[in-house]
Amino acid sequence: MPSSNVLAKTFEPSAFELRQIQRWDDAGAFQPRGPRGAPRFSIVIAPPNVTGKIHIGHALENALVDVLVRWKRMKGFRTVWVPGTDHAGIATQMVVERALAKDGIDRRTIGREEFLRRVWAWKEDSKQAIITQLKRLGCSLDWSRERFTLDEGLSRAVRKVFVDLYRENLIYRGTYVVNWCPRCETAVSDLEVNHVETAGKLYFIKYDVEGDQVGAIVATTRPETMLGDTALAIAREDARTRRLSGRTAVLPLIGRRLPIIEDDFVDKEFGSGIVKITPAHDPNDYEVARRHGLPAVTVIGNDGKMTSEAGPFSGMDRFEARARLLERLAAENRIVDVQEHQHAVGHCQRCDTVIEPYLSSQWFVRVEPIAGPAVAAVEKARVRFVPQMWEKTYFEWMRNIHDWCISRQLWWGHRIPAFYCDDGHVTVAERDPDVCATCGSGGLRQDPDVLDTWFSSQLWPFSVFGWPDRTEDLEDFYPTDVLVSGFDILFFWDARMIMAGLKFTGAPPFSILHLHGLVRDEKGEKMSKTRGNVIDPLDVIEEFGADAVRFTLVSLASPGRDIPLARGRLAGSKAFFTKLWNAARFVVSHSEGSDPGDPASRGDLSLLDRAILSRIHRTIELVDRQLEEFRFDLAAAAIYELLWKDFCDRHLEMVKPILTGRAGTDRQRAVTRAVLREALGKILALLHPFAPFVTEEIWQTVAEGADLLAVSRFPRFDPGRIDNPAVDAVDHAAEILTRVRNFRTERSAGPTEPVELRIDPATPARGCLEELAPILASLGRLASVGFEVAHRDDFRDIVAGVPLAMKFAGKESSADKVRVHRELSRLDEDIRALGARLSDPQYLEKAPARVVEKSRQRLVEMEKRRAALGGDSA
Ligand SMILES: [Zn+2]
Ligand SMILES: [Zn+2]
Repeated sequence: MPSSNVLAKTFEPSAFELRQIQRWDDAGAFQPRGPRGAPRFSIVIAPPNVTGKIHIGHALENALVDVLVRWKRMKGFRTVWVPGTDHAGIATQMVVERALAKDGIDRRTIGREEFLRRVWAWKEDSKQAIITQLKRLGCSLDWSRERFTLDEGLSRAVRKVFVDLYRENLIYRGTYVVNWCPRCETAVSDLEVNHVETAGKLYFIKYDVEGDQVGAIVATTRPETMLGDTALAIAREDARTRRLSGRTAVLPLIGRRLPIIEDDFVDKEFGSGIVKITPAHDPNDYEVARRHGLPAVTVIGNDGKMTSEAGPFSGMDRFEARARLLERLAAENRIVDVQEHQHAVGHCQRCDTVIEPYLSSQWFVRVEPIAGPAVAAVEKARVRFVPQMWEKTYFEWMRNIHDWCISRQLWWGHRIPAFYCDDGHVTVAERDPDVCATCGSGGLRQDPDVLDTWFSSQLWPFSVFGWPDRTEDLEDFYPTDVLVSGFDILFFWDARMIMAGLKFTGAPPFSILHLHGLVRDEKGEKMSKTRGNVIDPLDVIEEFGADAVRFTLVSLASPGRDIPLARGRLAGSKAFFTKLWNAARFVVSHSEGSDPGDPASRGDLSLLDRAILSRIHRTIELVDRQLEEFRFDLAAAAIYELLWKDFCDRHLEMVKPILTGRAGTDRQRAVTRAVLREALGKILALLHPFAPFVTEEIWQTVAEGADLLAVSRFPRFDPGRIDNPAVDAVDHAAEILTRVRNFRTERSAGPTEPVELRIDPATPARGCLEELAPILASLGRLASVGFEVAHRDDFRDIVAGVPLAMKFAGKESSADKVRVHRELSRLDEDIRALGARLSDPQYLEKAPARVVEKSRQRLVEMEKRRAALGGDSA
């Protein structure tokens, strides 16, 4: 061990984390290793949005993935983890619009081209920030394969998919009532609408009917839309409304004549049995209008203001128009009733504006034919969900799936590859066409809209490998092995990837979908800026170190649960790595001058050596098994226990007498040192996937000249190392030591007061304990350890089944006699009471058999103890 290469005195993560990132980068450690065709492990990142930087949820997700990736890489798999970012259409356009607004700039005034130039600049900054943060977190992504959802290759993939689906009639353009955000001025999909329970009002409005004295009462929650009514509808064969069939109603305030039609869509049971038909502002009404050939009149525009069709209300905001309209109706005595009405109101997921159902021309994907195979793939376990409970949610959604509105009235995104000639013919093509495919005329205009951002994300697992080209990477790494994602994007992304993967590659894009929970604050509250409880991953990395952040998040990630993140846990993890650091320093300081080598071949391992190696191999087996089952939390807990309790508190304490020459031979000392180094090396490797920085730093210091730990072999479980008798013996010795220490404190003796220990010579553990006796003597500061029967005045006890006797050396302790006497009389008392209860037939009849059995065992235990203390046997 060269003295120039020593671990710093204190554990200071910031002193080495950046250096390790550089080392891994320089070595190309995260590129796939090994020959093509070797067993491989492939995974793609869930690409963060280029809206800014990553949040604590990203930190959790990528920490989980990195554990898997590093573990597989160390197990010798040809491993790749593909990095990248998502252009995140509407989200990114909005943050850039907001940033521009601060400088008083509106995107419309600078125009599409200039606006996009600025978004690209924003994207570049954001992407750089994200890469830096992922590296700070220790994510072992293969940066040579970085992708972006709008880069050239991925754009080609998007275009091919659009054209193929269009040719198969699975993409179509149509005029429908869609979810419209008047603030973002774009259509959004059903998934992008948050439904908020709202206390609203239901207005009952009277319409006049020509030739009918009574007229028609119509109920609505959005009275301003009545300005767009083009009919009233009644149910067939409803006695209450039959008289109105075929008549004509008159739209109040406007005077438009409205035919009264019959349609099965009207629910006889609901309200007056008469409904207004507003085709431009209600999807169901639009369907009714199509059946009956009714016109659609748009009265609310794409900016949420009333159109010129709205008569006296034109130009008003929709909510202002509602208020004015109600005043006018009230003045004409047309409001018959107003009821409180609880209902769900759609809000834009991005900006929280109330969504307006809006008639417009959009592009749609016909999803049902693609959904079938994706359902079957999960049913047949070609894709397995972990935890499995999410499969039910998936099936329900997939079996009731609607067509997907994919066009967005935005600028940032994949422009729709549809071109229109002056005659309105549509040409859809992979390459920009010069002439109309129908009439051959030139001067084509491309559709101004872009695709929903998830349209490109759904292709991510294969487009990143070069699809539609048949690349080596695609062959080597697709389908991927696992996808790790938050359950909140199960429908937005995961389900669509399964559909797209099956449709375009014939294979599910991953065989396992692991869904993790959300990171919340320590009280379980959602983190939000308004609550002020947001934990920024970079802040806590600075404060506690990246390893502590990763280890905490991973340890808390129990399946199917949200993660309550407390700063106290982060501090606890930092203490854990401090413990590791100090243990490593201890090992290093005692290794000087020792000759490294394989102690296993020497055949003279001590019980302590055999015990720690057994515990390590037990943990290796456990960690492998837990990670196979995605129990990151249990794997982390097992390593924590091994390092803290077994290695530091137990092993390092017990080998001290050997290392310092107070016990054992020189030869034993050499073996102990070699085992210490082996044990430390294995623990570092076990812990590396969870805490790559500190383990790599120690590894580089301890194992001078060796490979990077990141590309070293994960410890292999060796059943031959399992040695339960050694583990038990060391456990017993430790318990005996504790008993000796308690013996002193119970008697207010100092920790160095010499004690004679006598161990029952007939104990079956004698062989092991004899080997450990010098350790016991040294650590217990014993005057003597003997295998002999108890002396007359000894204090007696049974520890871990071994009868012991103790006495202060050279002292006749009267205090001890008093204490033993007291305990004996208490035992007598208890034995008598319990014995009486157990011979009471009433008790035996009533008490559960399990309780009775337990009491019997306790009685036996107490009698044994009485005998050990020298009392009379019953
Ligand atoms: Zn919006
Ligand atoms: Zn044409």
